[in-house]
Amino acid sequence: MSRQRAEPSSQSFFVAQLAAHAKQTAVAAPATIDTLTDSLTYLNEQEIAKVRAAHSYATLAHEGQSRRTGHAYITHPTAVAQILAEMRMDHQTLMAALLHDVIEDSSASKQSLGEMFGESVAEIVDGVSKLSKIFANRDEAQAENFQKMALAMAKDIRVILVKMADRLHNMRTIGVMSSSQRKRIAKETLDFYAPIANRLGIHTMKSELEDLGFKALYPLRSDRIERAVISARGNRRKLMEEISSTMTAALNREGISAEVVGREKNAFSIYKKMKSKQKSFLEIMDVFGFRVVVDQPDACYRALGIVHNLYKPVASRFKDYIAIPKVNGYQSLHTSLFGMHGVPIEVQIRTKQMEAVAENGIAGHWLYKSDGDFDSNQQRARQWIKDLMELQRRAGNPLEFIESLKIDLFPDEIYVFTPNGKILELPNGSSPVDFAYSVHTDVGNRCIACRIDQKLAPLSQQLQSGQRVEIITTEDGRPNPDWLTFTVTSRARSAIRHELKHQQQGESVALGRKLLNRALGNANKSINDLDFRRLRKVFTELGVRKLDELLAAIGNGELMAYVAAQKLLAVDNPDYAAVEVQGGGPIAIRGGEGLVINYGKCCGPLPGDHIVGHMTAGKGFVVHIETCTNLNELRRRSAHEIIPARWTSTTEGEFLTTLRVDVNRRKGIVAEIAAEVAAADAGVDNISVKERSAEISTLIIGTTVRNRSHLARLMRKLRNITSVITLSRANN
Ligand code: MN
Repeated sequence: MSRQRAEPSSQSFFVAQLAAHAKQTAVAAPATIDTLTDSLTYLNEQEIAKVRAAHSYATLAHEGQSRRTGHAYITHPTAVAQILAEMRMDHQTLMAALLHDVIEDSSASKQSLGEMFGESVAEIVDGVSKLSKIFANRDEAQAENFQKMALAMAKDIRVILVKMADRLHNMRTIGVMSSSQRKRIAKETLDFYAPIANRLGIHTMKSELEDLGFKALYPLRSDRIERAVISARGNRRKLMEEISSTMTAALNREGISAEVVGREKNAFSIYKKMKSKQKSFLEIMDVFGFRVVVDQPDACYRALGIVHNLYKPVASRFKDYIAIPKVNGYQSLHTSLFGMHGVPIEVQIRTKQMEAVAENGIAGHWLYKSDGDFDSNQQRARQWIKDLMELQRRAGNPLEFIESLKIDLFPDEIYVFTPNGKILELPNGSSPVDFAYSVHTDVGNRCIACRIDQKLAPLSQQLQSGQRVEIITTEDGRPNPDWLTFTVTSRARSAIRHELKHQQQGESVALGRKLLNRALGNANKSINDLDFRRLRKVFTELGVRKLDELLAAIGNGELMAYVAAQKLLAVDNPDYAAVEVQGGGPIAIRGGEGLVINYGKCCGPLPGDHIVGHMTAGKGFVVHIETCTNLNELRRRSAHEIIPARWTSTTEGEFLTTLRVDVNRRKGIVAEIAAEVAAADAGVDNISVKERSAEISTLIIGTTVRNRSHLARLMRKLRNITSVITLSRANN
């Protein structure tokens, strides 16, 4: 009856065993809302109430569904939340864990979750659903890129942590899945999930995922190794105890209080070692592993000296991961020794704190509530990295470390799929045209359109990690000078320029005519409507003598059609002297050229400010406050590139701007300022604090407001705080 592939009979015994294990209530449904609540001693009452509310909602949403283990579906999200509670994650993470399957499984939408449980929770739930979809197209050959893509997609690191806990619980109950599903999921766990846990330094999760994956994928091999470990343990016990008490006594004699514990390798790491180093089980098990945990870092080195005195060290095997931590922050001293009768001993020496980092990695930052004034989520991930960098700085190590850390954990790149499932790495901000040129110069030169996730999309659209991009080409396709306004890769930009130069002058003029007409079309005009006797001044300003030169310059990409049209139109209608800017993020100006608008991060222009802008490669038209000091250089070099701009009367939305505040230092001042910002109905995007002296600190606050008068109201309120000395907008 069963459609599963038949398994060898010795194996079917283990399969039945795995299934029986998965069905146990302690495994499948280890937590209820009450036991979960009991473990939330690190949260306050309000937070616990929110967690319980999320649980009630999820219970209703999954009503009537059950898992293959036979338990009600809600037991799964509850178990996932329990795993995260043991890692002492914050209440929003736990709420997201409880809700992580409701979008998939019920009619709940991201928006309705946002209204009920807040934006952050909705974002995490949505991120978890998206990640699950990406992993569904996996390809082992590209495991490394998939791991990076997952990290690039999760703007909030908590998305990854929820997804990992989800996978962990699913692996604990994998025995109930069909043989083919079990193998696929186990392989995926070993290829993607365990390595990500390792990158994030979460050692406990990594080893459990590895052992569960190993057991599900190779039940026989895993069973043999586990049995061998148990039988070896009996023979080894006496010797282990002897070595351990000798070391403890030697350390105590020198006044170091230390905990010495015997270590056992997990089954999967023994298996990996046997495979990669071509060693027999006995050769690997022949080594006796110990961990020495002490109080202070300097005690690590003293303890090292003591064990080196006790047993003869193997010179080449000493590793100092305290001075040079591993990329994920792991710190420890590793040494190998020859014990009595020449038995090989491996010792790891570390402090309690290093031990906590080794077990929990990035999640360790949720263990202790910071006494700081603000705690946003990504802040903690950043803090983790900052701590790692600080470790490196003190150890005086090369910059390479920081680079590999950034690339590994929070990539600046995006990762997108080609139609046949390959992953391409591109710089952040890349467009389909960049994608086309990175596939092949010919694909770039001939591209005329593209599909993103199977939908037609503009060639200028910014790509996001995880998207599938397909380029449509024609034989007579040509690069368009407009592409230079949004491409970011040097490969695409130099290929476009090269191609444009090689087009014949005649073609450039024809193309320039087409582009200028299109740009003028936004004002319902064409080249024929222009009175060229009156335009001589504009020609001079643009550096051309006659119309053909102007058109050729546009056609070969030296001049933007949009800029030329703007200046030509302004002669008759002063309205066109300034570019119209409407709020709400990047938009097309006057619905025409698909020109992208960006706001200068340096000055943070707000509706009501006097603004100007200039065309920047890859960013389109970048708007600044007229007085922004970042424009000084450009103004000296080529003032004509600075184009006047103005806000439309219908401008709406939230705008990011930066305040610089000098304050008298005292406890709680940052919290007070943040509270005042919130009370003024403005948002805090980020705060950084620079200590200028013992008395004075400078706060740089990225705040979101609606417009200039809203900001003025906020600044008045902040000035009323007694500790505030001076207050100004940045870069003005
Ligand atoms: Mn799930």
